[in-house]
Amino acid sequence: MARYTDASCRLCRRERMKLMLKGDRCLTAKCAITKKRDVPGISNRRMKQLSEYGVQMREKQKVKRIYGILEKQFRKYYHEAIRLRGVAGDNLLRLLELRLDNIVYRLGFAKSRAQARQFINHGFIAVNGRKMTVPSYKGKVKDVITLTLRGEGIGHVKEVTEDMKAEYVPAWLELAAKKGEVVTVPIREHVEYQINEQLIIEYYSK
Ligand code: SF4
Repeated sequence: MARYTDASCRLCRRERMKLMLKGDRCLTAKCAITKKRDVPGISNRRMKQLSEYGVQMREKQKVKRIYGILEKQFRKYYHEAIRLRGVAGDNLLRLLELRLDNIVYRLGFAKSRAQARQFINHGFIAVNGRKMTVPSYKGKVKDVITLTLRGEGIGHVKEVTEDMKAEYVPAWLELAAKKGEVVTVPIREHVEYQINEQLIIEYYSK
């Protein structure tokens, strides 16, 4: 699957916020946003002059980058979100939160969503006792997330999961003894970033 492979910090600088793409490094002084680097390839004056369309596009790009999703798949989430009952923006964020790579990251099995995708692709993650290698798998209430036997045997995975703590886990998930569970569907308040999802809906609805 195609993936963005350029420097992750560049994306945060472009969006002018911490997207938390590099795990522990994001919490240190080495973070490019903490160092207050300029937006790459664009002057601050130009950033301030964004049109309505530009603002909507930037919001869409920001969310795509947070969840590590490419345009085609992100658009599919939009179409699913508007088909579902309820507020389209809330539906969109819920669909993104329910991705397995996000669940794995939010439970603390990985330090970033990119690492979560890697662990899933390598067969280190199981859903309801069965290996799951699809990062976009849509989590369901009562799904139980654990490491596979293979995952448990990998030193690097062990190291990462040593830091897992139930208090870091959002309220829609539960964690006990390195076993995670989806206890309810996530709601808007569970999203850990400042996102104006309405702008994204407006962007695609044109
Ligand atoms: Fe973004 Fe993390 Fe890089 Fe900081 S260290 S700029 S939060 S990816």
